[in-house]
Amino acid sequence: LPVQTAEDAPASAALLARASQVIPGGVNSPVRAFRAVGGTPRFMASGSGPWLTDADGKRYVDLICSWGPMILGHAHPDVLAAVNHAAAQGFSFGTPSENEVRLAEEIVARVEPVEQVRLVNSGTEATMSAIRLARGFTGRDVIVKFAGCYHGHVDALLASAGSGIATFALPDSAGVPRSSAGETIVLPYNDLSAVEAAFAERGHEIAAVITEAAPGNMGVVPPDPGFTEGLLRLTKQHGALLVSDEVMTGFRCSASGFYGLEGPYAAGAPDLFTFGKVMGGGFPTAAFGGRADVMALLAPQGPVYQAGTLSGNPVASAAGLATLQGCTPAVYERLDTVAHAIADAVANELTAASVPHTIQWAGSMFSVFFRDGAVTSYDEAKDQDTAAFRRFFHSMLGQGVHLPPSAFEAWFVSASHDDEAVEHVIGALPTAARAAATP
Ligand code: PMP
Repeated sequence: LPVQTAEDAPASAALLARASQVIPGGVNSPVRAFRAVGGTPRFMASGSGPWLTDADGKRYVDLICSWGPMILGHAHPDVLAAVNHAAAQGFSFGTPSENEVRLAEEIVARVEPVEQVRLVNSGTEATMSAIRLARGFTGRDVIVKFAGCYHGHVDALLASAGSGIATFALPDSAGVPRSSAGETIVLPYNDLSAVEAAFAERGHEIAAVITEAAPGNMGVVPPDPGFTEGLLRLTKQHGALLVSDEVMTGFRCSASGFYGLEGPYAAGAPDLFTFGKVMGGGFPTAAFGGRADVMALLAPQGPVYQAGTLSGNPVASAAGLATLQGCTPAVYERLDTVAHAIADAVANELTAASVPHTIQWAGSMFSVFFRDGAVTSYDEAKDQDTAAFRRFFHSMLGQGVHLPPSAFEAWFVSASHDDEAVEHVIGALPTAARAAATP
């Protein structure tokens, strides 16, 4: 296997050795460790626009973009100025402040069914709080989720999750109480009849259905026509809430997220949404929000408790607001252009090298499955040639293109990916496609 080794990245290898002494696995989030692809994870020293520079001084075109947040590219001047300005005023007050109001107003203005939001610090907190709120609102305990959807490392939502859980082929996580997992029903994505059956049997116990608006954590698997509409109908019929997780798609697929794309929401709107990533511009801030009558149940107005020392942090809020304000129509156009240029070239080169592949889309978000045929569920997503991906990944890395180190992740681009960066990616593809083809 042409796996990059410590010799290719001596400074990163030394940092990994040091990190492994004091941090489990040497990383603070599992997928970063390269376990699925092997080799030495690159420790980054800096980022600028579409480029990352590692501890050895080697440059990469970044196709992770911090797993979504860096939609404008690294260290964007406007965001940097906003952060510097906010930081100079103080880092955290533990009182309300104006920046969090401005960020909340921006989100509410963009996503029509979101009447109120509460700011939190991570996507995990957003989904955890949204399901607590749904349970408080309905007085019911059961949550329906879909296999391959990842909603953060919330106990009740880890069953058959995507992202790192998919990467490592873990069934679940140790340390999740049986009682907690027992309140979760896991169904196959895009299988409306399974949802109908679950509601027919346990409809009076179901507090909420949570789904990624368009899943990106098993690779990109968009909802089949009618699926989201069916979820809207069934939840309404049975008095349950629909929680649309837009942590990944929010403000990326369009100015108002996947919700803003035409299609599934003509018939109605989810009750609650979760956001993260882009809305924090690379800082730890996220949100959940939706119907005002549901949000009214949150403390201090209502009985559902939820809180945070750093929630609505003024510096993070300033970064998020500047990022959202920077997401102009031209930015979305550029994301589209860049994503299609890269995806088309990937398809051409993999075809030329006779490597089975399928590219799937949700707005300008895409991923490459190393298999033939459409992927509509987690079972199908798992049925791909991960060894071919590994060879492809390492060839790209060696040529200065940093892909997500897993076959089960979306590829993220930014509006700062200029023609030079795109050409660099495209130039690396023929060699990588041949590597993928050669066991
Ligand atoms: N929901 C979705 C759809 C996500 O993609 C993620 C993170 N990849 C999360 C929730 C969790 O967010 P965080 O990592 O900020 O906790």
